[in-house]
Amino acid sequence: MKGFTQMARNEIQLKSSYTRAPNWFRGNLHTHTTRSDGSRPPEEVIADYEARGYDFLAISDHDVLVELDSYQKNTSMTLIHAVEVSARGPHILQVNATDRIDPKADRGWVVDEINKQEAVCVLNHPNWGTNFNHFPHELLESLEGAHGIEIYNGVIERLAGSPFATDRWDRLLTKGRTVWGFAHDDSHIPTDVELGWNVVQAENCTVDEIIAGLKAGSFYASTGVTINSVETEGTTIRVETEDAQRIRFISRSGVLRATVDAAEATYALPEDTDEALRLGYIRAECYGAGGRVAWTQPIFVETS
Ligand SMILES: [Zn+2]
Ligand SMILES: [Zn+2]
Repeated sequence: MKGFTQMARNEIQLKSSYTRAPNWFRGNLHTHTTRSDGSRPPEEVIADYEARGYDFLAISDHDVLVELDSYQKNTSMTLIHAVEVSARGPHILQVNATDRIDPKADRGWVVDEINKQEAVCVLNHPNWGTNFNHFPHELLESLEGAHGIEIYNGVIERLAGSPFATDRWDRLLTKGRTVWGFAHDDSHIPTDVELGWNVVQAENCTVDEIIAGLKAGSFYASTGVTINSVETEGTTIRVETEDAQRIRFISRSGVLRATVDAAEATYALPEDTDEALRLGYIRAECYGAGGRVAWTQPIFVETS
């Protein structure tokens, strides 16, 4: 055909953050003790989480780095040093902290300092407060060094605002940002414990491997549903759970693409390349009994 040039056809690929590591480890990364405004000393909080079968736990008091080496000797859980940078601005979690960071009002500076320590940086409870706006969205968007945001924060169940922030998450993801969704208790009192957690895919439950898995996005966030695997093959995504009753696949701008009423589900990208690319990313929400839910990390749609 005259004037027709064969275009190199763009092939679509799915970029999944999940590894094929054999084990899943469950833990909470946002925990308070009497070292700031929590009701129980570290040893009681640690014993509580251990009795519930947790694999790892970060103690993250407000602007205080609690030394954990003496507690590590008495627990089989992997303890992770952390700080919740709190004063003078929206709260930011510093997981795998080596030093306390000055809580300067300049949150861009705080995020840079967290990254200098090679810690994990999570923007906390964005929708806390009577105005549902603990983290003004322009600020949230400007903090490009963050690894993720809390899409669920347990303590907000009993405080003003929304414990959920998948709205903020979809807004960041739609801007092309790679940010992971975290679920945390933010426990201050006993009834805050075991409301939300992260489950990390790794070989071993060491601090290094858990932190690497969190940074890479090889984990899911949950308030009670268990995910067995998140896998991609070609242009399909398969999610298998233990106990979900409904799985919803969501794309750019929070648009629902498919709903499957089963414990496992497969989503196939549209065959049209442009249409598939416009989805930007796909993430799954897995709903179980009693309003429980697990969130996979986003899987990005790209050209190869
Ligand atoms: Zn906080
Ligand atoms: Zn907190």
